[in-house]
Amino acid sequence: MNTTYSIELVDTITTPPAKRHRPITMAVDIEPTNGTSAAVSGVKAQSPEANKGYSSRVVLTTYPGQSVVNPIPLNWGEADPDNRGPVLVSRNGKTLSRRNAIGAHGGSYCVYTALTIAAGGLPPGFKPSFENTEPTFDFPQQAAWSDTSKIVAMDPFGHDIVRHFQRHLNDGLDVRPTIAVTRANMRVAEISEWIREGQIPVDGNIVISDAGDVRVTKVAVEPVWYLPGVAARFGVDEGTLRRALFEHMGGSYPELVTRPDIKVFLPPIGGLTVYIFGPPERVSDPSVKLALRIHDECNGSDVFQSDICTCRPYLAFGIAEAIKEAQAGGSGVVIYFRKEGRALGEVVKYLVYNARKRGGDTADRYFARTEGVAGVRDMRFQELMPDILHWLGISKIDRMLSMSNMKHDAIVAQGIPILERVPIPDELIPADSHVEIDAKINAGYFTTSKKYTEEDLKQVKGRGWQGWEDLEH
Ligand SMILES: [Zn+2]
Repeated sequence: MNTTYSIELVDTITTPPAKRHRPITMAVDIEPTNGTSAAVSGVKAQSPEANKGYSSRVVLTTYPGQSVVNPIPLNWGEADPDNRGPVLVSRNGKTLSRRNAIGAHGGSYCVYTALTIAAGGLPPGFKPSFENTEPTFDFPQQAAWSDTSKIVAMDPFGHDIVRHFQRHLNDGLDVRPTIAVTRANMRVAEISEWIREGQIPVDGNIVISDAGDVRVTKVAVEPVWYLPGVAARFGVDEGTLRRALFEHMGGSYPELVTRPDIKVFLPPIGGLTVYIFGPPERVSDPSVKLALRIHDECNGSDVFQSDICTCRPYLAFGIAEAIKEAQAGGSGVVIYFRKEGRALGEVVKYLVYNARKRGGDTADRYFARTEGVAGVRDMRFQELMPDILHWLGISKIDRMLSMSNMKHDAIVAQGIPILERVPIPDELIPADSHVEIDAKINAGYFTTSKKYTEEDLKQVKGRGWQGWEDLEH
């Protein structure tokens, strides 16, 4: 197939950064050479095989005002879901021209969906059945659901699309949930041990067996970003945010720069899971106490129990305290964010481990090692984290089971007071993780015990390269 590829500079961004002389956004416009003018910028598929199940034209990007661009209105911040409108991101069939969001469903798992379709395991136009998938608990709508300063990183109506957006489903549009609510029993080794030791009683309702079975309501949430709101949280203009996302995700989403009229983006990143202990209606009840742990993923510790950090011990402690608060008539919530290794990922994390162990693993140099490899010490951006608290209707936190100042400050900045901060008990800190926890305390993490001087921190050493290398787990 002969195609021409032209690259042009176009002005599409809403608000250019002040330091630029003129707004420049690069867009790639690819057109067939057969002379027909394309209503949608596109190119003929490269080979008959590449055509399987798809139309012959590949739509690379769209522009506002094109005849085939007719988005269903999406009025972020509307309290009535019918006026707010569904999030439509699918490129399937007629939904392509009615889309009002960029990206794909499933967070990072959208890649596996694409792979499954490529491998022939799923037709491109597959439509899911949502029969019997509705939430096990009907979370009451909060004022924050229609406050564009409070919820910008998830779709507040994403759990109940069948109820709210039935007419669009009936019209054949590919509306999909971005939140699911279910119930389960869970069993965590530490909790079972503390039940055996009598620290946590079996109450028959929340803790239902002396083997450690605990009843929980779970909420899984995929990221849905309202770009003007996300930009505001970080104090940047929307145009800069869109450009950076486009550039640094390999140019994957040209519509971030060609469609300033589309305000919602579903990024290919991990989401979060809420674990609620006790009746879920108590979470938003300000008359009962709430214990809360915000936990960021650390697979090496959370699942495989490496002893270099305090992640799993703090998680287990958080679950235990959440259970106890629920047993005392309050509510306990643990929220698990998929932000592995301070959102730097495990490859960077292990590089830092090596740099620490080989370079003399002392608490005073803990953050410098991370900054040397990653450029920054943390990429978790707690600024977007409090959205889920607003969605749940949490108006105050009685017991915050976290020492992180970044989490604390992000929550308080969103107008949710934290009445007490509860550090991890000393006896739960693994021996080799003192380097991490002492460095964090020195950097401003909350503690009720001793603060360290720089000289003290030099004395806090990890196991070291030799001993560490020789360890067998
Ligand atoms: Zn960890």
